[in-house]
Amino acid sequence: MTLNLKSPGAGRKPFLPITEIEHAAFCKSEDELPAKPLLDEIKVNVRWQKIPLKYLRLDAEELDQRIHDARQKLGTKVVVLGHHYQREEVIKYADFQGDSYLLSQQAASQAEAEYIIFCGVHFMAETARILCAPHQRVILPNITAGCSMADMAPTGDVLDAWDDLEDLLGPNSVVPITYMNSTAEIKALCGRNGGIVCTSSNAAGTFEWAFQRGSRVLFLPDQHLGRNTALNMGIDLDEMIVWNPFKPLGGHTPERLRESKVILWQGHCSVHTRFTPRQIETARQRYPDIKVIVHPECTMETVQAADMNGSTEVIRKTINEAPAGSQWAVGTEVSLVNRLAKNNPDKVIFCLDPIVCPCSTMYRIHPAYLSWVLDSLLDREIVNEIRVDDETRRHAHTALERMLEVS
Ligand code: SF4
Repeated sequence: MTLNLKSPGAGRKPFLPITEIEHAAFCKSEDELPAKPLLDEIKVNVRWQKIPLKYLRLDAEELDQRIHDARQKLGTKVVVLGHHYQREEVIKYADFQGDSYLLSQQAASQAEAEYIIFCGVHFMAETARILCAPHQRVILPNITAGCSMADMAPTGDVLDAWDDLEDLLGPNSVVPITYMNSTAEIKALCGRNGGIVCTSSNAAGTFEWAFQRGSRVLFLPDQHLGRNTALNMGIDLDEMIVWNPFKPLGGHTPERLRESKVILWQGHCSVHTRFTPRQIETARQRYPDIKVIVHPECTMETVQAADMNGSTEVIRKTINEAPAGSQWAVGTEVSLVNRLAKNNPDKVIFCLDPIVCPCSTMYRIHPAYLSWVLDSLLDREIVNEIRVDDETRRHAHTALERMLEVS
């Protein structure tokens, strides 16, 4: 059989998305975490969206007053959603806090709100756009707030891989699953091709769903969540392969692809792959009674070295409900870990990584941007609106609806 390969491989140099390259720019010491006027923060050499100069100099009190006044005037027309990984100075304005999935559900249930301001990253605002009513407008305060993991699965590369897999293995032989942390177009690809979206809470359920419909899964874009989930379900490492989009056929022979059960896209989270078994060992040496809980976007080695793993919501619930005096080393985004520590003063809670590295794109939602988008609404101008074309929206919606069936 002659294969008409689309995955480019040779001649194309591997590249890192800009969101990944910029990630370390925000690693800082704990006392440098509190927000400064935007003028000082934009000295960090990454992409920042330009906004009117007057917002750059406003200090925390002035911003607080402006945001408060604007919210009063806009009333129930506006709902502000805040992801758990947002910094303190932003999350305090959120009407609802949650992970990406919970917030999208909130977006869909806020029928009264004309404007949904999503303090999170681009794929979350897109998902809210897909799930909320057509008349509602979704706004992302800083358009440069992307996600390195979502950016590791560009549409063209995934479509090429999909064509190659169908050419080699035949139509309907692979069921695509995409993690919520992916673009609307990748969700739509799953919707169009009998696939599904998953969250870190229901990934195992979606694997079961997929294996009822086919013998092989393509998991996008986070190889670690895919691998950890498959291992939990008793699938052998030998039955998993990683698809490298920079190599022909993802770097595999046709035979190896035919034998595989789970094809993992070569993507990862810049935040969660910082956590290591070594850090866990150090935490256990310092605190012999420590419990270690990590997110399943961490590497397999880190997840296996931890006592437990779970989604952001699971981590929050576990620690909030733990007995007083318990000790927790946590492998997830530092803004959430610090909030958990603040809200649970009777427990010892700290981030596994001794270097403070917030999610660099979430961190770019500075209160000045929130103030700017609110003031713009008062001036009847919608800035940074997130749009998804009708066809993408329809197919992505199908994949999200399937996810709801297995939640
Ligand atoms: S924490 Fe990781 S997956 Fe989540 S938005 Fe940041 S880079 Fe993306």
